Amino acid sequence: MPQQDSYSSSSRPLEALAGGRLTIDLDAIATNWRTLSEHLRDGTECAATVKANAYGTGLCETAERLSQEGCRTFFVALPQEALHLRETLPDATIYVLDGLFPGTAATYAAANLRPVLNSVPEIEEWSAYCRAGNKPLAAAIHIDTGMNRLGLMPDMFAQVMADDYLTGAFTPCLFVSHLACGSTPDHPLNQIQLDTFRAATAEFPEIPKSLANSAGVFLGPDYHFDIARPGISLYGGKALDPGTNPMVPVVKVEARILMVRDVAENQKIGYGGAKTATKPMRLAIVAAGYADGFLRRAGSSDKNPGGFGWLDGHRVPIVGRISMDMMALDVTDVPETVARHGVFVELLGPNVAASDLAIYAETIDYEYLTGLGRRFHRRYGTLGLRQDGT
Ligand SMILES: *Cc1c(COP(=O)(O)O)cnc(C)c1O
Repeated sequence: MPQQDSYSSSSRPLEALAGGRLTIDLDAIATNWRTLSEHLRDGTECAATVKANAYGTGLCETAERLSQEGCRTFFVALPQEALHLRETLPDATIYVLDGLFPGTAATYAAANLRPVLNSVPEIEEWSAYCRAGNKPLAAAIHIDTGMNRLGLMPDMFAQVMADDYLTGAFTPCLFVSHLACGSTPDHPLNQIQLDTFRAATAEFPEIPKSLANSAGVFLGPDYHFDIARPGISLYGGKALDPGTNPMVPVVKVEARILMVRDVAENQKIGYGGAKTATKPMRLAIVAAGYADGFLRRAGSSDKNPGGFGWLDGHRVPIVGRISMDMMALDVTDVPETVARHGVFVELLGPNVAASDLAIYAETIDYEYLTGLGRRFHRRYGTLGLRQDGT
């Protein structure tokens, strides 16, 4: 069992004492992994990106479920995440995308972690460590093909690979690059990055390569190479901006109704009086706010519409600004027997996609998922069907 820490589900508040509950469907994550695997060309391995606590779904719980499904390779961002994962999965291949942190090579080696070496200083340090111990440990090398974030530029990569002192002492086991605009399939940078990655690695046909995140999986077989490393699609997110999302939902957030109140026409609602009742309304005040990850920008005003929740087949719009701990929902059209004190309202889940909420908050579903529910009661189980039955 992994040690108790802030990721542990047992440190979460009891359902009866929490403002809301967060349900995570591990079988749905497994289903999405299989769907992604089936999209890949023959011979491409489907890994899983489980950084940021597996996008909020629980690092060890998710990785363990995926491992049961047949997933063997995992990508995390930080060495602390990798060490945590290693306790759960002693035999998995674990890559650390943020690279090699100074002075930590022995820690990586002891836990059999593979850094994704992003720069010359990291390559020098891993190389020196391997040379000193006379152990050619495996590491990936990141090539920057146009994102200008992490990785070696192609000319520097060529120099480094030609320099036996730098790369002769360890085992380069994977070449990695990352797409900057994959979610926009017709963006010209995708093809440029693909061509650059191919050209840079052409000399090394025997070394495995990885370019595709979730979006890359859907861009087609040219982008698949040897290992795909999807993240957001595993968690039900929408990888490509256009089109429908083929993934099943994984996360549901419900918050309890604290109070139901009637508001007369022309009354102002919430902080700043940003929203005016244009007719007599009934509001449900629910116990979830921006401190729970419900981004303040998804609130509504007289000028702008906002996000919405879902209550027993009714779309219930967010009314006015979102507070730290609560928000108001318009339940005027919901029967009084349904919208009452203590009832849970779906704020995200099968009926409220994170990608839809994200539009109102001018962000992406990644930010919603990774920011959700530090105070909610967390449980693992099935989400139930969408209320239109699909
Ligand atoms: C986060 C990340 C991924 C996963 O990306 P998704 O868009 O969530 O599929 C893959 N590779 C790198 C380098 C990343 O930073």
